[in-house]
Amino acid sequence: MKILVINSGSSSLKFELIDTETKKTLAKGICERIGISNQIFTYKNKVTGYNEIEKPTPMQDHKVAIQVVLEKLQDKTNGVISSMDDVDAIGHRVVHGGEYFDDAVLVNDDVIKKIEELADLAPLHNPANLMGIKVIQKLLPNTPQVVVFDTAFHQTMPDYAYRYPVPEEDYTELKVRKYGFHGTSHKFVSNRASELLGKKDSKIIVCHLGNGASISAVKDGKVIDTSMGLTPLAGVMMGTRCGDIDPAVPLYIMQKRNLSASETDTRLNKKSGLLGIFGKSSDFRDVQDAMINGDKRAKLAYEMFCYRVRSYIGSYIVALGGVDAIAFTGGIGENAFRAREGICRGLEFLGIELDYEKNKEMISGDVEYSKPTSKVKIYKIETAEELMIANDAARLVK
Ligand code: ADP
Repeated sequence: MKILVINSGSSSLKFELIDTETKKTLAKGICERIGISNQIFTYKNKVTGYNEIEKPTPMQDHKVAIQVVLEKLQDKTNGVISSMDDVDAIGHRVVHGGEYFDDAVLVNDDVIKKIEELADLAPLHNPANLMGIKVIQKLLPNTPQVVVFDTAFHQTMPDYAYRYPVPEEDYTELKVRKYGFHGTSHKFVSNRASELLGKKDSKIIVCHLGNGASISAVKDGKVIDTSMGLTPLAGVMMGTRCGDIDPAVPLYIMQKRNLSASETDTRLNKKSGLLGIFGKSSDFRDVQDAMINGDKRAKLAYEMFCYRVRSYIGSYIVALGGVDAIAFTGGIGENAFRAREGICRGLEFLGIELDYEKNKEMISGDVEYSKPTSKVKIYKIETAEELMIANDAARLVK
C-alpha cells in the first residue's frame, strides 16, 4: 500500500509517501513557515534522487501547503505517483490521544471531537495536527485517514505508575496524569530490540534521545513506565526543556521574576535543558564541540544530560525487575557516541558493558554496541516513526 504520512505542526508540515510493501520512502519533504513570511518548501524524490531544497513557495495556510505537496507528488517530471488515487490512505501523527486511544484509529467525527477536546492537554500540538486532517477531508474526501497518537503505546502503564500524587479531582476532572510521548518510536524500537534479542518476553529500556528525549521501560512488549508526563516537559534533560525538577521551582521563579504562567512555561520549555546550562546552543553537537574545546558550561551540560539518563535507566531496571537490552535511538542516541559512553560508563556492575571502542564507530543500521560478555545488550536502533505510522494506517485500512 502507498500511505502518505503527515505531521502537521502549527507552522510546518512534514510529509512522507511510503510504500508499506517495500518499506521504502518514495518521496518526503517539509513545508515551513506556513502562514508566516518567506515560506519554504523542501522536497526529495527518493526514487530518482531529485532534490528541491528550501524553495521559496507561497503557503498562506495549511490548505495551500497540502495542495503544494499533493501537486508535487503528482508532478509529471518529479512526482512519484500519477494521481492521488494511487494513495491508499493518509496517516497523521497526532500528539495527544489522552485516555481515549491506546491504538491508531480511522478518522471519523467522534475521533475528531475527541482530538479537539484533548487540545486542553496539548494546546500547541493537537489543533495543529487537526488542521492537516480537516484539510485532507476537504481535498480528498474519499481517501481514508488514520491517526496515530504519540501517547497510545504508553496506555498500558499501571495506575501506580501513571497517577500523580495530587488531589483525586485533578485526575478525575482535569485528567492530570502521566501520558508519555514519542510512543510510536518507543514501540518501533522496543519491537526491534526484542527481535534482535530473539525473544518476545523481554525487558527493554528505550532511550529516545533527540531534541526532545524520553525513556521507557517495556516489559513483554508493553510499556510499564515512561519519563515524559502530562506534557513532554517531564523526564530527562532535553535540548531546551528542563525535564524533572522540583515542582516548586517554577512557582518560585514566577514569584521572584514576576513572570506569568505562560512566560514561565516558555522559560522551562524553550530556554532550559542543554541550552540553559551551556548557554550558547541546544544542539548536542555544539555542546560536544565546546566541551572538547574546554568550555566548562558545555562539560556540565553534557555531564548533567548523561547523569539524568543514567538515573532513569537505574530506576527502570528496578521497575522491570532486571533488563535484557538498552536501546538508544533519536538524533543523539543514534549518532552521539559520547552520549552513549557517558550514560553507560560505570554501569558494568549491573552487567551493562559497553564496547567503548566499537561504540566510537559510526555504523549504519541497527548495531549492537555491547561487549560479547555483557549480560545486557546495548543497541543503537534507527527509529522509523513514519514507517510505523504508515504500517498502522495500512493495517487499519486493510
Ligand atoms: P527531534 O527531537 O527534533 O526529532 P532529533 O532526533 O533529530 O531531534 O535529534 C536532534 C539532536 O541530535 C540534536 O541535539 C543534534 O545535535 C543531535 N545529533 C544529530 N547528529 C549528531 C551527531 N552526529 N553527533 C552528535 N549529536 C548529533
